[in-house]
Amino acid sequence: MSKFKYGKLKLTSTFLFIKLGKKYNNCESCGSEKTGEDEGSMHFDGVTGHFKRTCKCGWEIELVFEKVE
Ligand SMILES: [Zn+2]
Repeated sequence: MSKFKYGKLKLTSTFLFIKLGKKYNNCESCGSEKTGEDEGSMHFDGVTGHFKRTCKCGWEIELVFEKVE
C-alpha cells in the first residue's frame, strides 16, 4: 500500500483518507456535511494522492499529497 506525506507524518492511503474525511467533513463555506447526489462529493485517489471535496454551494478544495513509498 502506498504511503503519503502528511505534514511530518507518513500515512497509508487509508489513514490519510480517514484524516481528510474528518478534516473536510464540513464545508468551510456553508458548513454542510453532506455528500452525494446534488449535495457534494468527497474523493481520494489512493494511487495518485489526489483529494477533492466539493459542496453544492460552490466551495471546493483540491489537494495532492506526495507519495513517499
Ligand atoms: Zn458548502
